This record gives sequence, C-alpha cells and structure tokens, in this order.
Amino acid sequence: MAPKKWELLITCEHAGNRIPAGLKALFQGRDSLIQSHRGYDIGAIKMAAVFSAKLDAPLFFSKTSRLVCDLNRSLGNPTLFSSVTQPLSQEVKHRILEQHYFPHRRRVESHIETCFQKKACLLHLAVHSFTPVLAGKVRRTDIGLLYDPKRNLEALFCRAWQKQIRLNQHGLSIHLNAPYRGISDGFATYLRKKYPASRYIGIELEVNNRLLDPPLKTDP
Ligand SMILES: [Zn+2]
Repeated sequence: MAPKKWELLITCEHAGNRIPAGLKALFQGRDSLIQSHRGYDIGAIKMAAVFSAKLDAPLFFSKTSRLVCDLNRSLGNPTLFSSVTQPLSQEVKHRILEQHYFPHRRRVESHIETCFQKKACLLHLAVHSFTPVLAGKVRRTDIGLLYDPKRNLEALFCRAWQKQIRLNQHGLSIHLNAPYRGISDGFATYLRKKYPASRYIGIELEVNNRLLDPPLKTDP
C-alpha cells in the first residue's frame, strides 16, 4: 500500500480582538478587558504566521474577539458567548454566529474535506496562547501540546514533538495535555468527532504568553 500523504493546516481561532461595528456600544468602557488575554490570544497569530511561512502550510484565522463569540467552543457550550454577549437576544446571537463563527469553522472543514478528496490525510495545528497567571494561580506550563490520548497518532506525534522541543529549548516546561485537557471542548475536539483518527490529527498548541512578551500591540 502506498504511504499516506499528510498535509498540514494551521489555524488560529483567537487571532484578534476586533469588536464588530454593530456591537461597539455594548463593549463601551471595556477596553482593558478587550486588550487582555480574555479578548484574544496574545501573540498567537504571529506564531501561527511563522509556522505557516516556515512549513509552507495554509493558515486560517479569525480576528473577531472571543468576547463576541468563542470560535474554539462548540454550539451549546455555555461559554460560547461571553458574559458581555450572553444576554443578547437569540436573533442577535444567531447573526453573530453566521457572521463570525461559522465562516471560520466552515472554511476549515471545507479545506479538510478537499484534502480527503485528494486522498491526503491532515495534520491540523490549532495555535493558541494562555495567560501565565489565572485566578491568582501561576501556571507551570510553558508550552502545552493538547491531544486525545485515545488517538494513537496524536499521542505519538505529541510525544515526539515534546522530545524535540526539549532538546532545543532547555529549561522550558513542555507538558502534554496541560494547562487544558486535549479532550475538553475545542475546535479540534469537535473535528475529531467528524473525522477518523487514521486521517485526521488535531493538535492544539498552547503557549504561555509570557514567552511571547512583549505583547505585540499590532497583533489584532
Ligand atoms: Zn485560544
């Protein structure tokens, strides 16, 4: 049997902190929230762009703030909308999803399906960053590789990648399935339910944003 051809796809769900014009009034006076890690993943899009350029892989991203709706959450997840947008009417929320959530997710799914039609398999790397201190607790992880331990290819890939990063970056804490579990709700978790483990590898890369300092003000 011919060896499988693997293609790489980079995504960045929390690339920016844009607030759509129609919602600006709702977010009035919330600038510090919008500029914080709760508004977007600081440094993530720059990192995703480097992966994309160095590895010659397509990059799909969204610059809509996660405070509007969280592209890394499934429909029905109580944190799909933030505390700011949660009280909006169903009609407005539906419009937000149509304009900001589905376009990114559909673009990614359609790309994956095109790969499958070409008989290729897909390695999806979703690039994210996290805050070094959450609720007063310092996080020990510098780089987290999130995957589903039940999917052998994902486990093998992450262990090998962890080893490589450790060889090149002494002193960094490279953890598997930390600071979040790979099977918690996320875009890759959703995609794993759609696509077989033999053809789809979904890895979420989580980098402590203190490594990405100074925060790049031009990010969003
Ligand atoms: Zn994120």
